[in-house]
Amino acid sequence: MKTIYSETLYERARELMPGGVNSPVRAFQSVGGIPRFIHRAKEQYLYDEDGNVYIDYIGSWGPMILGHNPDFVIKAVKEQLENGLSYGIATALEVEMAELITQMVPCVEMIRMVNSGTEAVMSAIRVARGFTGRDKIVKFEGCYHGHADAMLVKAGSGVMTAGIPDSSGVPKGCTADTLSAVYNDLDSVEALFSKFPNEIACVIVEPVAANMGVVVPQKGFLQGLRRICSQYHALLIFDEVITGFRLQADGAVGYFNVIPDLVTYGKIIGGGMPVGAYGGKKDIMQMVSPLGSVYQAGTLSGNPIAMCAGMHQLRYLKHHPEVYHHIGFLSHRLRSGLEEIIEHYHVPCTVNGIGSLTCLYFTKEHVTNYALAKSANTDLFRDYFHFMLDNGNYFGPSQFEAVFVSNAHTLREIDKTLSDADLYFASVFGKK
Ligand SMILES: *Cc1c(COP(=O)(O)O)cnc(C)c1O
Repeated sequence: MKTIYSETLYERARELMPGGVNSPVRAFQSVGGIPRFIHRAKEQYLYDEDGNVYIDYIGSWGPMILGHNPDFVIKAVKEQLENGLSYGIATALEVEMAELITQMVPCVEMIRMVNSGTEAVMSAIRVARGFTGRDKIVKFEGCYHGHADAMLVKAGSGVMTAGIPDSSGVPKGCTADTLSAVYNDLDSVEALFSKFPNEIACVIVEPVAANMGVVVPQKGFLQGLRRICSQYHALLIFDEVITGFRLQADGAVGYFNVIPDLVTYGKIIGGGMPVGAYGGKKDIMQMVSPLGSVYQAGTLSGNPIAMCAGMHQLRYLKHHPEVYHHIGFLSHRLRSGLEEIIEHYHVPCTVNGIGSLTCLYFTKEHVTNYALAKSANTDLFRDYFHFMLDNGNYFGPSQFEAVFVSNAHTLREIDKTLSDADLYFASVFGKK
């Protein structure tokens, strides 16, 4: 596979941008090699600057659930473009977007649009603290909630200790109130609440953890969080930046039938434009400025182009439940195909997944939390990743990313990917 132009661009980029990228994972940090520079995308395919074609299993990290450039979204955005890029003044689009989301997810009674998932989480945490008058927050090891200071906590095994910043430049004070618990372990959450019964503002969780590979909540885990939060008058926040509008039209809230107090969105909600949102119960959301005392603002929030793209995609999802059957069916086929290969060649791997989210872990452990996810052999993953990439399968360049399938994918792509995986594992683990 020719990668000359990507190599040249990468060289130029590294002089100009840290790591040559605007977000770290794109730099192939954990797998090495040359990141591909993408020129164009259509439906389930990516086309790079050297003319190579890939089946896209990243989908812009989630937003492109319908595949790239659905005609009706592009048409609507083109029409909106004619009317201007931004006004900084209220629009009908924002009202329509808020109506659509609150209809699709009834527990979201009020919503505020922002520009990224990071902003959504940062703001929701501020609201939870403002509403409860408490400072401490609980997050789970291995869950990613964007790069706001308070969320960048190295979640060691010291569950009872205050969070230690995971990034330089984050003052200890910013993470001193961030407590971490173990995913799928209600006892670890109970322990924190017993220690600080009146100090915890909220528990924030990815209802399906999709930033440490894919870790599915065990039966009763989310229900247990709901119970504990209610008992201690803390808020439960679902970070649905990945699961929202993906597990089903009403996200994890509907899928697991657990009602959080606040929900954060991103990725899919913008249809590929930079959008995030947070919302929830009215009495809580009324805390937000200008109604209430929790300040939060955004010059470009609710941007008309972004609202237009996001709203058309969401509206399609609302009216086309067959999308979820299709992406679920293909992902199930992908998972069962991988499982057959693993069994056939006795590969030390485990497949996790739910709906359209899949992860092939290079460990035999049944992965239910961060420590188990970390047991994966990332060297083996790196080798597999590059083989698959060179054969036209673009996965997230890290063991700890989900494989995303879109509505534009068909069985043909899934079967090609499985046959490439079979070739790879036969060459490494096949009988000599
Ligand atoms: C991607 C992600 C974020 C951060 O969103 P950005 O738009 O990258 O700031 C937050 N939470 C979860 C669960 C995510 O997957």
